[in-house]
Amino acid sequence: MTTLKIGAALAARVEETYEPNFRADKFFADWDTAFVAQHLHWLAPDHYVPDTGYLKLSVHSWLLTIGGKRILIDACVGNHKPRPHRPKWDMLNTPYLARLEAAGAKPEDIDMVMCTHLHIDHIGWNTRLENGRWVPTFPNARYVFSREDYEHYLAEENDPATPPAGWGSFRDSILPVVEAGLAQMVSGAAALDESLSVEPMPGHTPGTIAIKLESRGEKALFCGDILHHALQVYRPAWNSSACLDAQKARASRWKTLEQCAAGALLMPAHFGAPFACRIEAKGDAFEPRFV
Ligand SMILES: [Zn+2]
Repeated sequence: MTTLKIGAALAARVEETYEPNFRADKFFADWDTAFVAQHLHWLAPDHYVPDTGYLKLSVHSWLLTIGGKRILIDACVGNHKPRPHRPKWDMLNTPYLARLEAAGAKPEDIDMVMCTHLHIDHIGWNTRLENGRWVPTFPNARYVFSREDYEHYLAEENDPATPPAGWGSFRDSILPVVEAGLAQMVSGAAALDESLSVEPMPGHTPGTIAIKLESRGEKALFCGDILHHALQVYRPAWNSSACLDAQKARASRWKTLEQCAAGALLMPAHFGAPFACRIEAKGDAFEPRFV
């Protein structure tokens, strides 16, 4: 298990899946074979599978332990959830909760759940199936959601002309938390306690937030899908096919990388092993230094 120390905090990676899951040239419209060839020595096998042309993206949460509190950052896809549009995520049944426990927390121990944005692979474990109903998995947690994302997907959910928001994920993974009174909506830059804060980083979704940790002079930035893959550190202009606003997504990615080059450890949601890195400014882009 990957565990990193940031000041007084410990961040443990809780894996849901880690496998080749997206065709690279479909996922990144700017995919550039010649550029990628220069990086193959570190891309394979942890980040990319050259034989098939698939990206290898991890889907994991970070369990943060600090000051006696346990905070879960991003909630993966979840178990037993119908996602027929994406077969690799359809009706998953992984030992995620056993892995969470091995990392140091039972569901009732979690004090706070934070979603960097409200996409299907960041909200799934917010709820679990109990007696045929979706109920909050973490009954003692407050769940921090971005108000902009919540309102954006609520409008989509309520629009009879469009399919259910997030292929049904808003309905089974967000609404039950809100109905249980456990959601805390944040808007704009906000401090959540003495060490955690959020900063709006719109683009991938309208309400994407960076989650920032500062403890004893050390910093980390949990970036969600502001970056999906380590190649975007070298090519910050590359958007994924899931980025909703291309210009804003690029600006937020650049800002994130600048903040990390100034000292914050980058804590991605999907990078391959070793899953976290430092960022160095290099000419007109950046380079990762894996930790
Ligand atoms: Zn994601």
